[in-house]
Amino acid sequence: MADLRIADVVVIGGGIRGCTIALFLSRAGMRVALVERRFPAYMASSANGGEVNVTDKRPAHYTAMSLQSSRMYPEFIGSLENDIFLQQKGILHVALNQEEMERLEQRVEELRQIPGLRVHLLDARQAKELVPALAPEVVGGYVSPDDGLVEVLKLVPAIVHMARRYGATILSKTEVTGIVVEGGRVRGVATDRGRISTPTVVNAAGVRVPHIGRMAGVTIPVDPEHGHLVISEPYPRLLPIPTEYVMQWPNGSIMIGTSNTKIGYDLGVHPEWLPVFLKDAMRLLPELRNVKAMRVFANIRPMPPDRLPIYDRVPGVEGLYIAVGHSGITLAPLTGKIFADLITAGRTDMDLGPYSLSRFSAGTAN
Ligand SMILES: Cc1cc2nc3c(=O)[nH]c(=O)nc-3n(C[C@H](O)[C@H](O)[C@H](O)COP(=O)(O)OP(=O)(O)OC[C@H]3O[C@@H](n4cnc5c(N)ncnc54)[C@H](O)[C@@H]3O)c2cc1C
Repeated sequence: MADLRIADVVVIGGGIRGCTIALFLSRAGMRVALVERRFPAYMASSANGGEVNVTDKRPAHYTAMSLQSSRMYPEFIGSLENDIFLQQKGILHVALNQEEMERLEQRVEELRQIPGLRVHLLDARQAKELVPALAPEVVGGYVSPDDGLVEVLKLVPAIVHMARRYGATILSKTEVTGIVVEGGRVRGVATDRGRISTPTVVNAAGVRVPHIGRMAGVTIPVDPEHGHLVISEPYPRLLPIPTEYVMQWPNGSIMIGTSNTKIGYDLGVHPEWLPVFLKDAMRLLPELRNVKAMRVFANIRPMPPDRLPIYDRVPGVEGLYIAVGHSGITLAPLTGKIFADLITAGRTDMDLGPYSLSRFSAGTAN
């Protein structure tokens, strides 16, 4: 097959991870080709809650990693040319009874051990001052200004725009069909539109990371995890900051999530699962009963078995990297930096030990 082009790095997958990595690498002066089988943000990266969520991450090293990314967000958004809504005032976590409050207090104690993380325990009055629409049963909660919300629908297009500005080539409607490995190192990528010669490949194909891995003889354990989101018609301001699964965008529309189900690669909406999380949301915010739903969508999260990212160089295949996991929005700027550092300087300041492929016994290269 004829060579389509030559690149220093080929990034596979035009989701938030692939696009951010392509942006950071091209900004560092590398010739980057990003290959996307449909179009950027085709999958989960345009169908998610937009939360930059630090305090829902466990264990502590993952909370700290998410915090580092959250702190990078203002500069990251500022470096893009588009105007993107970013609010970093917290996500309100609430308790509806004393037992839940004890769990929250315990969680706040854990969070206070994370260096630099800001977290405030709230009584019922303080919680209702932040979100007056809360149900009267709410007994308290916590909030961390390190949690936030970003306008996700504009984010990936803005990143792609900047990556192009720095010289990255975005190959949409191009599917990777093979990885060329010779003598234990990457030589190129085969696509349905020709071959790209390259010494470096980043596998950021989301739920299809395992398929790409197999092309190079590598087993990568990632399962799709299905989730729904319900979007309302614009409504007068109800949520100055989001609660755990309910957020309001500047145009007034309210977004309510979510379900977590393992049903393979199914992207469909399953109406029978909606009442479960909608009831929870209405219990917390009774006024949601007056809000009219406009749209429901579903997508699948790329989820490793321990729910932590896999950020690694593939052992045994020189030049092959993996970038996959949940919470790609939260981790976006840090992900770009980690892979740009690994690829351009051969090292990163982050301890990637907990995110290695070798933590799974299955992660072996042939
Ligand atoms: C309902 C829901 C709510 C969520 N809420 C949040 C949230 O609030 N905050 C948060 O941080 N995260 C959230 N997430 C998770 C977040 O959306 C994902 O972690 C993130 O979008 C994954 O990005 P990615 O770039 O790794 O993968 P993806 O977005 O899945 O992108 C992978 C891309 O690879 C392409 N591809 C696959 N195979 C090939 C191939 N052979 N050749 C070329 N291209 C290929 C695909 O077409 C796709 O565009 C949510 C997810 C869901 C489903």
